[in-house]
Amino acid sequence: MNDLRELYQEVILDHGRKPRNFGALPDANREAHGHNPLCGDKLDVRLKVKDGIVEDVMFEGAGCAISVASASLMTEALKGRTEAEANALFEKFHALITGEADVSLDQLEELDKLAVFSGVRDYPLRVKCATLGWHTMHAALENNGETVVTE
Ligand code: ZN
Repeated sequence: MNDLRELYQEVILDHGRKPRNFGALPDANREAHGHNPLCGDKLDVRLKVKDGIVEDVMFEGAGCAISVASASLMTEALKGRTEAEANALFEKFHALITGEADVSLDQLEELDKLAVFSGVRDYPLRVKCATLGWHTMHAALENNGETVVTE
């Protein structure tokens, strides 16, 4: 289990330092702004959705390593998914992070790399950081242009 924890930490640090899909997305047609006042994380998430498919997703902003790494891994997980799949993944990730629901091994496999955040549930303040990008993505799909504030 310690090896797994170390691996998880490495993935989070890697994505925190070198976030993937970080920058502007000029032809985005969905976007939302996210703000986590508890930590100071501020992220914008932009998506290009065509025929119900997330063709591209990028994010920008500044935040702690957990919020940036989580948004980075999220963008990798979302490309090519339908809007319904993106929202379903958001719900599974949320359940994993908050510990609201037991996540089965099958679901963990489906979450793939996102499972690196499973340890965050032990740190309630960090939960807001790890879910900020996801809440913002969800808002972008549901209510384009909204600002999400987690507290
Ligand atoms: Zn944070």
